[in-house]
Amino acid sequence: MAYVISDSCVACGTCEPECPVGAISAGDIYVIDPDTCISCGTCASVCPNEAISEE
Ligand code: SF4
Repeated sequence: MAYVISDSCVACGTCEPECPVGAISAGDIYVIDPDTCISCGTCASVCPNEAISEE
């Protein structure tokens, strides 16, 4: 099970450098690669917009 970023993402970029496995990439909104994500939850805890949750 991976974490996913919802439409609430405002592309602030806070989560990207916090991911220990580099699963987050930038786009119109940020995206998590489900094959790389180890479901650690770090990104969800740092998102100021609560846009990240477990799938
Ligand atoms: Fe990266 Fe952890 Fe977020 Fe998965 S849950 S994208 S491994 S920070």
